[in-house]
Amino acid sequence: MPQCPVCNVQVFLKSDSGNPSMPTAPFCSERCKIIDLGRWLDERYNVPHIARNDDDGDEEIYPDC
Ligand SMILES: [Zn+2]
Repeated sequence: MPQCPVCNVQVFLKSDSGNPSMPTAPFCSERCKIIDLGRWLDERYNVPHIARNDDDGDEEIYPDC
């Protein structure tokens, strides 16, 4: 049985009728889904990146290297 990655509660993916009972799967609840999303965004935003000069409004392409 899968478990919620956030709080490790067992997640029941399907109801007896076979229909998905967990729209938030693999999370147990919308709350845990949001918590996990927040963690993911934190990781992403913590990655250092080159500051861009956006004040002129032009679409300037900077090399990724
Ligand atoms: Zn949970």
